[in-house]
Amino acid sequence: MRQIREYCGIFGIFNAPDAARMIYYGLHALQHRGQESAGIATATFDEARGRPMMPHYKENGLVLDVFRDQSLFEEKLLGDSGIGHNRYSTTGSSDNRANIQPFVVHDRTGNVALAHNGNISNARELRQAFQDRGTLFQTTSDSELVLHLIAQSRRTRRIDQVLDALAQVEGAFCLVILTDDALIAVRDPNGFRPLALGRKLNRDGTYAYCVASETCAFDLVGAEYMRDVEPGEVVVIDRKGTVTGEFASYNLARRFGTSQCVFEYVYFSRPDSKVFGEMVDKVRRKIGKALAHDAPVPKVKRGQRPPIVIAVPDSSNTATLGYASECNKIGYPCKFEIGLIRNHYVGRTFISPGQDNRELKVRTKFNTVEGVLKDRVVVMLDDSIVRGTTARQLVKMVRDAGAKEVHFRVASPPVRSPCFYGMDFPSKEELLVNQFDSIDEMAAWLGVDSLAYLSIDGMMQGVSNANPACEGAMCNACFSGQYPVPVVLDAQKEENEWQ
Ligand code: SF4
Repeated sequence: MRQIREYCGIFGIFNAPDAARMIYYGLHALQHRGQESAGIATATFDEARGRPMMPHYKENGLVLDVFRDQSLFEEKLLGDSGIGHNRYSTTGSSDNRANIQPFVVHDRTGNVALAHNGNISNARELRQAFQDRGTLFQTTSDSELVLHLIAQSRRTRRIDQVLDALAQVEGAFCLVILTDDALIAVRDPNGFRPLALGRKLNRDGTYAYCVASETCAFDLVGAEYMRDVEPGEVVVIDRKGTVTGEFASYNLARRFGTSQCVFEYVYFSRPDSKVFGEMVDKVRRKIGKALAHDAPVPKVKRGQRPPIVIAVPDSSNTATLGYASECNKIGYPCKFEIGLIRNHYVGRTFISPGQDNRELKVRTKFNTVEGVLKDRVVVMLDDSIVRGTTARQLVKMVRDAGAKEVHFRVASPPVRSPCFYGMDFPSKEELLVNQFDSIDEMAAWLGVDSLAYLSIDGMMQGVSNANPACEGAMCNACFSGQYPVPVVLDAQKEENEWQ
């Protein structure tokens, strides 16, 4: 399932001798959260000018390409603290280079840089209020609003200005804010998006502290996970804290309960990350096991070879392992196989006019293993179905490879409703389930012998089995239509300029 996108990955580090390089590696680990652009800002003191500076570099492209020039790390992005951002953007805003983060500004209190993951739901109202007062904007990004709110606060301490600003924004977001002497990590009051806190031992015995959208970024830089930034928490990492190991923490006002995004577990986060306090791998396996109870593999006649279970790689691999092992355990024999191979080096493939774009697009990403699929009853498992166009093409490819039967299993419930909390979804009409009256009709359109989804209860049970702390603290609105925070439907989706 590749038709839902996260809005960004963020990483910040404080008190690290090679901060920019650490951020580079952190962003590299978070590349799956945004591939449009990447940027790093650091905090340093310019001896020649006698004042703090925030050098930064950002450009469109993947992290590897944007930071190809080593001199950036040796001569420009100096200092022992900084923040970084991987951006994914919606059509239109991606063309605007001014929207690439982090944003860096200088105001009466000093320098401040900001990087942001998610969306601000009252951005339209805030922007209108600023424009009515004559404020000029350089970008169409929500993040710039936060900087204006910080700069216009009447408070004198930077943290108070930040808290002033945060009291005025609503939505589903995580922020890393770099000041001249601190790194501030923020998670929205509902905790929709994940943000983790870690530390890494420096050679001099002190610790560097870091925050990241996912803990896979900590693994790459050699940091250990400490804890999540809590929903509504603002953590201030400063010099004093690096000595005492204790950081000032503030709480934003909370009007609603915790509603962490279940899609992070279903699809978006990497399985080697700890998200919302639990390994994604563990949660996904439990989700796969729950699916085995809701919709096991078909039973075959005695003497016939058991069905093979294949994952749509890579995001479905873990759930498929859980599914196949549980099917066998509960009396539905099957064999886990690798029948689809994913090409990881596709990027934006050029497809010439006249070629069958859809088919070629899928074929550039996936290929079948004929020897595995030929003459077999195949159960394909995907983590979710959104528009269904990729799934339909993959089914055809598996059939073309000689599969005798193709059964489709989905390790989440049907995606019925759009997300207003920081994920980019197709419109409601484009979602596959909204185009048909029944599962059977969908199965016929996909070209499969059977189609079955995980139930909402099954999904939530799978999540709770792996991570009991998530019980009653998750958002599943795109599956259930039950939005945990009221949204202004349609108008908001169209008019908010995300990222
Ligand atoms: S609506 Fe879906 S994608 Fe959006 S936050 Fe809720 S669970 Fe996540």
